[in-house]
Amino acid sequence: MAADLRHLRFPLSASRGRRYPEPDHPYRNAFQRDRDRIIHTRAFRRLENKTQVFTPGLSDHFRNRLTHTIEVAQIARTVAGVLGLDEDLTESLALAHDIGHPPFAHAGEEALDRCMRSFGERFDHNLHALRIVESFERRYAAFPGLNLTFEVREGIVKHSRDLEPGGAAELAEYLPGLRPPLEAQLIDPADEIAYNTADLDDACGAGLIETGEIAGAVDCFARFLRPARARYPEADERVVFHEALRALFDWLVSSLIEGTRARAEEAGAADHEEVRRHPRRLASFTEEGREAIRALKAFLKERVYDSPELIAERQRSQQMIRRLFDYYLHDTNRLPEPYRSQAARQPPQRVACDYIAGMTDPFFKRTYRTVFG
Ligand code: MG
Repeated sequence: MAADLRHLRFPLSASRGRRYPEPDHPYRNAFQRDRDRIIHTRAFRRLENKTQVFTPGLSDHFRNRLTHTIEVAQIARTVAGVLGLDEDLTESLALAHDIGHPPFAHAGEEALDRCMRSFGERFDHNLHALRIVESFERRYAAFPGLNLTFEVREGIVKHSRDLEPGGAAELAEYLPGLRPPLEAQLIDPADEIAYNTADLDDACGAGLIETGEIAGAVDCFARFLRPARARYPEADERVVFHEALRALFDWLVSSLIEGTRARAEEAGAADHEEVRRHPRRLASFTEEGREAIRALKAFLKERVYDSPELIAERQRSQQMIRRLFDYYLHDTNRLPEPYRSQAARQPPQRVACDYIAGMTDPFFKRTYRTVFG
């Protein structure tokens, strides 16, 4: 195994620490405690009932946002371990990366964002995740939220994009203009490996696509399907599919490891500070891996996400979100506590948005039925 990137690991001793100082724990370090705090939140448990791509309940085998999160954590932790980075920081960020997701996956996020844009505001699941860990989770008497370390909060905000200097005032403390630590940079590509491979699997399971069709459109899949078919000519088509998918998955993870190593070497970064100051992110697939991800995304968009079945479902859920949002907006006394009292201090659209964003898919549907019959 080639050299690791231990010199770029974020040292726990360099952590900017917690907002409210706490005594050390006898046997768990700060990033391990953050991971554990995230696992014990209500927001984390709600991931089980949030859609990844296919509605939970239609099949017992589709990913939901919780199982997707566990897959991302598995990939990110493996890569961090091979590269000699901090696995606990990486795992905390992977487990938190989707806790700000509203019901109905990206359709839900788009719908809430559109609702908020009519007030000149935005809905963004990363910022919502920050609000969850900073204030919505009420588990400690001494402080609001989870009192996570700075690096975990920063990683939540920056896991999928950097912050530009001069952006939102509420994010000014999270070092705009600087890259996050390498551990945080791994989450986005790990997420891409997880959902692109999982969506192929679930879409096959749903009967939307077939093995041969994927191979016809996506070279990187065909490359692994051919030898799998040749080696197991008697095997079931679904098993051959899994042989190919597993090989592709493994190759993508290796591509992320190799690509990150190559970029770090090219950048000549000496330590975690230089990772931050480098003009672009160092976590990256190899060029071949990037091309494979592009091809997978294009195929999935055309054949799965934009399939008539999923489009129809997306439109239905977006209309329902708009309608429930307007219902609460019209009269915030219709909100339950603590949102109702929050409405005294915050604009009604923000409170309505926060309430809906926290809902699971089934809770949203129950609420919608209760309200509109
Ligand atoms: Mg994700």
